[in-house]
Amino acid sequence: MYFVEYREHSNQQGGLPVKALLVIDMLVDFIDPQGALYIGPAAEKVVPQVKSRLEKYRSEGNPVIFICDSHLKDDIEFNLFPPHSVEGSGGDDIIPELTPKVDERVIEKRRFSAFVGTDLDLTLRDKGIDEIELAGVVTNICILYTAAMARMYGYKVNVPISAVASFDEEAHNFALKEMEKTLGVTMI
Ligand SMILES: [Zn+2]
Repeated sequence: MYFVEYREHSNQQGGLPVKALLVIDMLVDFIDPQGALYIGPAAEKVVPQVKSRLEKYRSEGNPVIFICDSHLKDDIEFNLFPPHSVEGSGGDDIIPELTPKVDERVIEKRRFSAFVGTDLDLTLRDKGIDEIELAGVVTNICILYTAAMARMYGYKVNVPISAVASFDEEAHNFALKEMEKTLGVTMI
């Protein structure tokens, strides 16, 4: 079958479909206390947790994809939030603790969902990936809406509770519950 052969089966453990880690918005503007949309004290706690997930995926030979806000100067999202992660501003840089390796994909996005206006779905399908893990920020915004779209596209989605964070604890808890109960995300 053409389509099956076309897919790149790169799993190193043999046979089973690979899974990917999506590291979402671990950027200077959200995580650095000087950042334009710093999420607050939760930022400090989430960094080592995301790093640990990243190292796990790397050591298992499973792909890691960095998903990064990269806004236009007059992006429509700034009607909702103060300007942040403007492309080329430095605020859109991944924090140094989590620097991608040369062979790891970085996908820029301009909407809450990492699937909107990006080639994420195509990238995952090309690799035969049907299971993703979401780590990073913000739980009730980009994590939640990426999880929602991933589920609607049929991906299995896992969220490590300690490796996601928000500026708003109530919204964080709501989003975790919504992902688990409504979207069928597995909490790990
Ligand atoms: Zn944004």
